[in-house]
Amino acid sequence: MLEVKSFQFNPFGVNTYILWDESLSGIIIDSGNSTNDENQQLLSFIQNKSLKIEGLYLTHLHIDHILGANFLSNYFDLPVKAHPQGGFLFDKASEYAASLGFSYDQNPEKIEYIDESHQITFGSLMGSCIYTPGHVDGSLCFYFEKAAVLFSGDVLFRQGVGRTDLETGDFSTLEHSIRRKLYSLPDDTIVFPGHGPSTSISFEKRYNPFFNV
Ligand SMILES: [Zn+2]
Ligand SMILES: [Zn+2]
Repeated sequence: MLEVKSFQFNPFGVNTYILWDESLSGIIIDSGNSTNDENQQLLSFIQNKSLKIEGLYLTHLHIDHILGANFLSNYFDLPVKAHPQGGFLFDKASEYAASLGFSYDQNPEKIEYIDESHQITFGSLMGSCIYTPGHVDGSLCFYFEKAAVLFSGDVLFRQGVGRTDLETGDFSTLEHSIRRKLYSLPDDTIVFPGHGPSTSISFEKRYNPFFNV
């Protein structure tokens, strides 16, 4: 069974998720951890549960989601996995960080680019990657069909959607991603977004003020 723990990290309140199953194999989705204290919160939880982290996944490469990427990659000796269309954001990470008042040491050395053909596997669980541009190029949602759970990054929020005014953002592309690729998932799918509380596909179809059905 898929278990999920969320942490809210850094001033942008990025949800960093730990997923695992009964085998105690797990993955981390997004790396908002930006201070020693936040690093310790994550590691303490993982150690207390005796989890074995086998994968680091990034929904997209905006600075608030990658602040802890290098730390986690080094600590677990794993590459971070992300979509190549967002790679340009690694080149700009220091510049963005400085403009927002973050300190950003460096990009992770090990980056593995993945696309929709990538299968997420850990323990007995399998998940897929859904390419959902519009908020920014290279946005992936991670979908676990059997568990009926979606990690939607900054594409879909509870009664909200990702902003489209940043570089490579585009409102009609975002609408296409949400309506065609996310609203086609089963209604009872629980959605864990990159910021804010969880929701479901059925709730957003009815109550999302931007795109409802
Ligand atoms: Zn974002
Ligand atoms: Zn974000």
